[in-house]
Amino acid sequence: MDAGTPPSQASPTSTDPVEVSAFRAARGLVLDRIARAAERAGRDPAAIGLVAVSKTVGPPRVRAAVAAGLAVLGENRVQEGEDKRGLVGPATWHLIGPLQSNKVRRAVAAFAVIQSVDSLELARRIDRLVADVRGAGMRLPVFLQVNVDEDPAKAGHSPDRLAADLPELASLAGLELLGLMTIGRLVAEPGEARPTFVALRRLSERLRADVPALGPGLSMGMSADFEVAVEEGATLVRVGRALFGDRSASEAGGVG
Ligand SMILES: *Cc1c(COP(=O)(O)O)cnc(C)c1O
Repeated sequence: MDAGTPPSQASPTSTDPVEVSAFRAARGLVLDRIARAAERAGRDPAAIGLVAVSKTVGPPRVRAAVAAGLAVLGENRVQEGEDKRGLVGPATWHLIGPLQSNKVRRAVAAFAVIQSVDSLELARRIDRLVADVRGAGMRLPVFLQVNVDEDPAKAGHSPDRLAADLPELASLAGLELLGLMTIGRLVAEPGEARPTFVALRRLSERLRADVPALGPGLSMGMSADFEVAVEEGATLVRVGRALFGDRSASEAGGVG
């Protein structure tokens, strides 16, 4: 589509009021669960942010979600984020999925925050492109993704690697290190994810004692386990299915 085309036909601002109120209710429920988990842990619920993971959800529904107050959206693919950005009202976009080196420039242009910085090499590449894409002196807020459980199938710095690389990561002037991010294990019971979240919090505390440039942010917890993550110190939870419903077919691999 030509970027100069007037938006009248696509009507990118129209929303279905029924859908908006459904999202308002879903958002309320999730915020409530966050608040109760925070209170159980003696934490201030206002200290916990919600990223609505809109991957695979079409622009009209994402628009309704934004109209319902879900202002921070998470996408795991650069292309999908780029495509939706112009079709959804004003929102803050986070990249939460793996970033290939040939898409870094586009990601830096399209996303406000990159949560999935999973290697020193990727961090260096982002750093080199930030000034170019955003202007001299600008910094891109990022999270450093950690493979806490050292699962060979998962992306992320191993805790030891991160400790070794952190001084250089902290020296990259184009990055603002908001904190650490992890993806919990796929577990049968939410409580089984707890050790992963505890380990990320402890790792953050340990690393920040030596490198204060690493921010205190902890992005952890998804639909299946965000309450446990909040109990263990999450400052940002990434919630998809509990807001948008199941992603079915393409991702679930068929009817169960
Ligand atoms: C899909 C995804 C989420 C959200 O998962 P839900 O189970 O839908 O809440 C969170 N974080 C990452 C990195 C994801 O890819």
